Amino acid sequence: MADDTHDIILIGGGVIGLAVGWSLAQAGRGVAVVERGQLGQGASQAAAGMLAAGIETEPSEEGLLPLTRAAQALWPDFAAKLEAASGHSLHYRTEGSMVIALTRDDREWLQRLARFQGKCGVELEFLTPSQARQREPALTPNLTAALYSRQDHQVENRALAPALAVALRRAGGIIYDHSAAELICDHGRCVGVRRRHSDGSSQDMLAARVILAAGAWSRDLVGLPAAARPPVRPIKGQMLAVQMDAAAPLLRQVVWTQNIYLVPRDDGRLLIGATIEEKGFDPHVTAGGLFGLLEAAWRALPAIEDLPVVESWVGHRPGSPDDAPILGEIQAGLGADGLILATGHHRNGILLTPITAQLIADFVRQGEMADLGQKFSPRRFY
Ligand SMILES: Cc1cc2nc3c(=O)[nH]c(=O)nc-3n(C[C@H](O)[C@H](O)[C@H](O)COP(=O)(O)OP(=O)(O)OC[C@H]3O[C@@H](n4cnc5c(N)ncnc54)[C@H](O)[C@@H]3O)c2cc1C
Repeated sequence: MADDTHDIILIGGGVIGLAVGWSLAQAGRGVAVVERGQLGQGASQAAAGMLAAGIETEPSEEGLLPLTRAAQALWPDFAAKLEAASGHSLHYRTEGSMVIALTRDDREWLQRLARFQGKCGVELEFLTPSQARQREPALTPNLTAALYSRQDHQVENRALAPALAVALRRAGGIIYDHSAAELICDHGRCVGVRRRHSDGSSQDMLAARVILAAGAWSRDLVGLPAAARPPVRPIKGQMLAVQMDAAAPLLRQVVWTQNIYLVPRDDGRLLIGATIEEKGFDPHVTAGGLFGLLEAAWRALPAIEDLPVVESWVGHRPGSPDDAPILGEIQAGLGADGLILATGHHRNGILLTPITAQLIADFVRQGEMADLGQKFSPRRFY
């Protein structure tokens, strides 16, 4: 028996579920977010927080560029509003990002990348090795070339979910954490969510709209009919952090090589990431994973040799078959009519948070997906 009625229920308290919820709550809608563990504990916690619509665009990803660019343009205002609404700093940083080449082969790769990104309209500056080292003196003297992207900023992604939670609650939203959601469907229509508590008890909640934002776990939602399951899979990523002197950091901007990236944080941590592995939900940090990251990082920034390793972790990116997000209502007739998906953000979910919130909230309010979001419809997979 349902004993609780809501306007909109979001399944998943990562950055996507919380940001969509905040956007809808600001528009006056009644929002409840259901998270089975702690808020932001999934990929949102594991990410590097790069907002890299430019440098990260690779051949075959041109189709994603209008969305990532739109997201990048929204970020400064989104960050300022979220900081004001929550009172939390997001450590939004605007130094830009650099890609460096360490060998002649690397330089050719960099030139190919620059040609491709130039064709896509990404604004990049070529730097000579000495210009690159003027910007970042601790980089190896073995540089052969570098590219600089002014607009590729970064944010402390671990600050994001807590800030969104405060802002959502202040806007009137409700959060149920530590309770797993199951979908309730009736006569082929999705009508609500059952909250399952750790002691096995449950509570049914009816809703006008249910939005699935459960990241890499979106396919496994209990109660979701088999035909309606989104083609989302976990893509494992390992990372580690070393501690720099926060007052005199070795690095001030994000630096990419062909194999890894280095992300300096305000508190002096330097993140080194990330592996990309098809290993399901394997939770292990491995010797091989760390070795690969550290070796490549040491080649780029030899002075990390003496820095203490302070953390290592694993996260699971919500991957989709075309590496693009899945946004909008699933088609009718699959047993869960009316269900909205906001998942599959793969390695760009932090960057895509504000644009996802905007597109999904507008869709809920207006019943139509904006042009920008149409090609990311779930219908492309069913
Ligand atoms: C190593 C790594 C580095 C990354 N770096 C970047 C980066 O630099 N820039 C960038 O833009 N992106 C990056 N990403 C990608 C980004 O982290 C993800 O795309 C984004 O966090 C996805 O957010 P989400 O809210 O969809 O998923 P998640 O953060 O995983 O949240 C999903 C939530 O749903 C909950 N959940 C699951 N099932 C249920 C259920 N049945 N009931 C209730 N709750 C449920 C989970 O507990 C989880 O909290 C990176 C990811 C990884 C792993």
